[in-house]
Amino acid sequence: MCGIFAYTGNNGKNAGEVLLDGLSSLEYRGYDSAGIYLPESGIVKSTGAVSQLRRKLPAGYFGKSGIAHIRWATHGEPTEINAHPHKDCSGNIWLAHNGIVENYKELREKLTELGHTFLSATDTEVLAHLIEEHLKVEKDFERAALAALREVKGTYGLAIAYALEPEKVIAARMGSPVVLGLGENERFIASDASPILKHTSQVVFLEDGEIAVITPTKHDIFKLDGGRIERKAEKIDWNVEAAQRGGYQHFMLKEIMEGPEVVENTLRGRLLEKEGLAKLGGLEGVADEIKKAERMIIVGCGTAYYAGLTGEYMLEEHAGIPVEVELGSEFRYRHPVLNPKTMLLAVSQSGETLDTLEAIREGKRRGALTLSIVNTVGSTIARETDAGVYNHAGPEIGVASTKALVSQLTALSLLTIFLGRQRRMSIETGQEIARELQAIPDKIRSILERRTEIERLAKKYAKARDFLYIGRKYNYSIAFEGALKLKEISYIHAEGCGAGEMKHGPLAMIDEHFPTMAIATSDSVYEKVASNIQEIKARKGPVIALATEGNHEIAKAADDVIYVPKTIEMLSPILNVVPLQLFAYYFAKEKGYNVDRPRNLAKSVTVE
Ligand code: GLU
Repeated sequence: MCGIFAYTGNNGKNAGEVLLDGLSSLEYRGYDSAGIYLPESGIVKSTGAVSQLRRKLPAGYFGKSGIAHIRWATHGEPTEINAHPHKDCSGNIWLAHNGIVENYKELREKLTELGHTFLSATDTEVLAHLIEEHLKVEKDFERAALAALREVKGTYGLAIAYALEPEKVIAARMGSPVVLGLGENERFIASDASPILKHTSQVVFLEDGEIAVITPTKHDIFKLDGGRIERKAEKIDWNVEAAQRGGYQHFMLKEIMEGPEVVENTLRGRLLEKEGLAKLGGLEGVADEIKKAERMIIVGCGTAYYAGLTGEYMLEEHAGIPVEVELGSEFRYRHPVLNPKTMLLAVSQSGETLDTLEAIREGKRRGALTLSIVNTVGSTIARETDAGVYNHAGPEIGVASTKALVSQLTALSLLTIFLGRQRRMSIETGQEIARELQAIPDKIRSILERRTEIERLAKKYAKARDFLYIGRKYNYSIAFEGALKLKEISYIHAEGCGAGEMKHGPLAMIDEHFPTMAIATSDSVYEKVASNIQEIKARKGPVIALATEGNHEIAKAADDVIYVPKTIEMLSPILNVVPLQLFAYYFAKEKGYNVDRPRNLAKSVTVE
């Protein structure tokens, strides 16, 4: 999730200054490298943050228009050469991109055959060459951009500059946000309104499949087929921070709300539904070794550890490979039995979690094949493991992990299909999981739409001083994750427990002041969890049940019910975790805590 920002004006302002200044307010979207292009002064790129880019600008770097980018890599390491803006062969077309070009390999091959030379390892660069190719036929910048974009599969928020028409900039949107800012003799294009607000509060939000052509005094919007669109400007009265949060009160809520797109982005281009296969480019080079492996150990910390526990159930059931899950902090100080037939899989959002990293290093020293599921491209774990799968979830800002987990569970489902189809999974099962995975985003959407109901429940229970979360089988780990979310941001005592374990101890704690969140969606262990709910009710414990839509029976047993749509058992954790995240969020908000920055915690844990 990068940030794009573009400017064109004729009021004496230096586009270089406007762009750099605005880019800083987009830094929250991730900053592994940055770049700026002004037709009048040329390109400057740098690794690191905007401050580093600023230091590299030559004296007299000036222009009336330009485009700029802050990158959070998805394809290609975060190096200077991979930083945006990227150019075509002629050096006249430059573009900054947020998103993923899914068919970049095919396009790159085709364009290479046609004589284009590529400089970077990004997916983005094909777009500049593709526009260049169409320009040969169309002889017009706008028509060439339209024709090129009609060939693109994937997501983009784009700002495109053309040296021969310097006061014009083109914006385009498909799946990644783009806002136009309309000022006095100046126009802006940005990933969100935060860099624009200083200059104007008049904005136009582009929709998917639209492009906009801006000059200092005009903006024209077209559909990809060329049809013109009229859209009135809106006035927004957000401050910069609110704009960064997309109008939500906290990043945590914004990130929970991003769940559907996160699943789509993690799945993008990776499912072959007809063949019941998962295409994981990052694992292709070691596919044979994976096939020969006899065992897997998943290592993670905190929420990523719970993702691993869910992965264990998925992989053992559908791929038939023995899996163990270890906390990074434990693994490195034990004497784990490893051999070259053991795969070690690290799960980490940041890719820098020290405990997990050290576990991987230890595994490597002992000859294990090391793999990773990591969100941050080019992070240490991604670099040091033999192969891996990137989440493509975009940077996560809330300290309590939400969308990263949704993405990790999605990636583990893909991995299950990948390994499963190498081993014992039938094509029908592969197809079924693939089909269900594709339906998950809409199902999450329907949960999110009913969030006020969860807010009401969170308020109702917000005085509780303890909370128990129970679940079984695939949702055993999700019970622990639900409790962790509540602990992290509400600072109350919350415990996860396997529902079947209640009778072996935790049930003793239950009384009318000790509520339980029971994950009781319709699956192979539903009847068992339903009995566990009865056991709690018999001790007067209040119960909120998380149940599958249509299960009216459960409303008789539980005090409150949160309903989620039906899916297959293996994928139920991806849906069930969302209401638990919302519940923790509203619970903490009701208590008045800063949910984005819980006390005593840090986002990326790079200490032991
Ligand atoms: N796919 C592009 C790159 O890796 C853009 C990344 C993004 O939007 O996060 O450079």
